[in-house]
Amino acid sequence: MGRLRCLSSASSINFCFLGCLQVLLLVNAKTNPETTSFTPINRDLYHSTGDLRKEIKAMVHRHPDKFTLETFKSGNKGYRAEVGVVTYCRRRQDTDDSSKFRILLSFGQHGRELITSELALRILSILSEESLPPNMDPASLNSTLDKLIIKVVPMENLNGRELVEAGDLCERRNGRGVDLNRNWSVDWGKKEKDYDPYEENPGTAPFSEPETQIMRKLAISFDPHIWVNVHSGMEALFMPYDHKNTTPTGVSSDQIKSLLEELNHLHCHKRCMIGSGGGSVGYLAHGTATDYMYDIVKVPMAFTFEIYGDGEASSKDCFRMFNPTDINMFNRVLNDWSAAFFTIFKLGPQQLGEPQSKVPASNLEKWVSIDEYLEGYLMERSSRYGKKREVLELGMQEIRTYFRLFWLSSVLLMFMFCSRISKSKCSRPIVSAIPL
Ligand SMILES: [Zn+2]
Repeated sequence: MGRLRCLSSASSINFCFLGCLQVLLLVNAKTNPETTSFTPINRDLYHSTGDLRKEIKAMVHRHPDKFTLETFKSGNKGYRAEVGVVTYCRRRQDTDDSSKFRILLSFGQHGRELITSELALRILSILSEESLPPNMDPASLNSTLDKLIIKVVPMENLNGRELVEAGDLCERRNGRGVDLNRNWSVDWGKKEKDYDPYEENPGTAPFSEPETQIMRKLAISFDPHIWVNVHSGMEALFMPYDHKNTTPTGVSSDQIKSLLEELNHLHCHKRCMIGSGGGSVGYLAHGTATDYMYDIVKVPMAFTFEIYGDGEASSKDCFRMFNPTDINMFNRVLNDWSAAFFTIFKLGPQQLGEPQSKVPASNLEKWVSIDEYLEGYLMERSSRYGKKREVLELGMQEIRTYFRLFWLSSVLLMFMFCSRISKSKCSRPIVSAIPL
């Protein structure tokens, strides 16, 4: 939500989805600490980044039959980022089975929305069978999960999250101030009248940010049937588009809407806003992940879910605005939304039909630079064969250097060759008198 619209909103609900003047007010308030009162992170409820990583790693380690964990690293201009990805497959040997539905879920794209990563942990815990499943009979649950490969990104924006934990509770951007949900290529860089760089800085170019580069490659190589970008700040079930105030047309769009209606009814107590991201909240967002997943990766079911928001929280109180602060609400959000995800796992594939029917990602977007190609290629190899990522990192650096040297020397050779030809053409007589 934009700042003017925010001011005009009586309920003053803060949508994580777009920035608010309210957050700007916090920045001003920071200079006047006496005037601010805000809720700190409740450490009895929320994991630290380090603990969450340890817990996920340990869980994967306890269930090697179901889970694998990969860490992808990327960086540029002195900025480094890494993204951990957990892959779930009920029988791990079936991970490459193309007859399965592929689901990609991302949490924590915005630093301050800590509750989303707690939901990721809860979903993984249910998948591991260490936590009780939501109300679903075991036979139905097993037959549902048998059809799926699920990739979970529990903390997409690790660097931004660390800033939040260090005390900047309103930070939503990555470690160098770019909004990772404005850094994608669909309608990138367009700014609304109430554009606020503290909230929505789209970066210097589409995919300028290492986190977005990693997510894009993950999406293109995995080619999911269902994508959910999980946020907080309000309660909503959004479908495309974010950059215009319409939803896609056609039968499948109607089916998607009815799925969202059902989720709203079953798990959101009918409180969730439903529709296009751009149309439902009354503002447009440009360069978002979900629009890219829908338009370019051709993900038939691409969603942005907003799982919690406290409209009563003061504008300075970001932790409270975006995250439940008491144990009852914390548990309610995790219970309701983990159940919602298991309903999607069941109903999504039913609606989609055969997994092979998915339209592949647009070829145009696959024309990438050598650097990007190598990274994507190596990433695909690493996920397929489970090779050590560190080795790949080193190998990638070397191969990149060799490629650059190769191109440079080829260009130089071509240049020398051409200039030699042109010289010899000038000096040689038109009819050569010299026999061989
Ligand atoms: Zn958000």
